[in-house]
Amino acid sequence: VFITFEGGEGAGKSTQAQLLEVHLRAAGHDVVRTREPGGTPGAEALRDFVLFGGHDLSLRAEVMVHFAARCDHVDRLIRPALARGKIVICDRFVDSTLAYQGYGLGQGDPQIVDLIQALGTRMGVVPDMTFVLSLPRARARARLAARGQRSDRYEAADEAFHTRVADGFDAIARAAPGRCLPISADRPADAVAHDIAARVDACLA
Ligand code: C5P
Repeated sequence: VFITFEGGEGAGKSTQAQLLEVHLRAAGHDVVRTREPGGTPGAEALRDFVLFGGHDLSLRAEVMVHFAARCDHVDRLIRPALARGKIVICDRFVDSTLAYQGYGLGQGDPQIVDLIQALGTRMGVVPDMTFVLSLPRARARARLAARGQRSDRYEAADEAFHTRVADGFDAIARAAPGRCLPISADRPADAVAHDIAARVDACLA
C-alpha cells in the first residue's frame, strides 16, 4: 500500500506522515516512511542540487532533475518495499511536481503539464491514497516563520507563485477524487491525524 502526502509548505505533511507511521506501526504494520525530493542517497544529493544549489535550469531541465531523483527513489526504495508487502508513506510525490513545476513555475503551460504527467505514468507506481493538506497561506507563513529553518528557493518565491501552487493542488485533488483526499490542515495536528488514520484504517480493513 502506497500512501502519499501533498500540499504546500507549512501544512504539516511531515508531521502527519510521522503520526501515521506511529499509528500503523502500533497496529503491527511494516512501514517505510520516506520523502521527496530525496529518499535515497542519490536522490537526496539531487534534492540539494535543485533546492539549494543556486543553479538556473530551464523548467524542463528542472522537471527532469525531479524525475531523476524520483526514478532512483522508486527503483531503489519504493518499488522494492511495496513488493515486500510494506506500507510506504511518502512525503510528496508526482503531484508536487505537477503543482510546483507544472502550475507554479510553468503557470499551467500544457506542454510542461503533459511532460510531467507522461513521466509520472512511467514511474510504475501509483499512490493508493493521497492526502492533500490545505492551509490558508497566512497560517502557513506563520508556521514556517516559527519553524525558522533555512528557506529554499521555492519558499522564498512570491505570493502569486504560492497561490498557483495551492490552486494546482486543488485541481489535482478534484481530478482524482478516488485517490486524493483533501484534508483541512487548519486544525490541531492530532485532529488532522485522527481523520487521516480513520481513512487509512478503512482502506486497510
Ligand atoms: O516538503 P518539503 O518542505 O521537504 O519540500 C522542500 C521544498 O521543495 C519545498 O519548498 C517545495 O516547495 C519544493 N518542491 C518543489 N517541487 C517539487 C517538490 C518540492 O519545488 N516537485
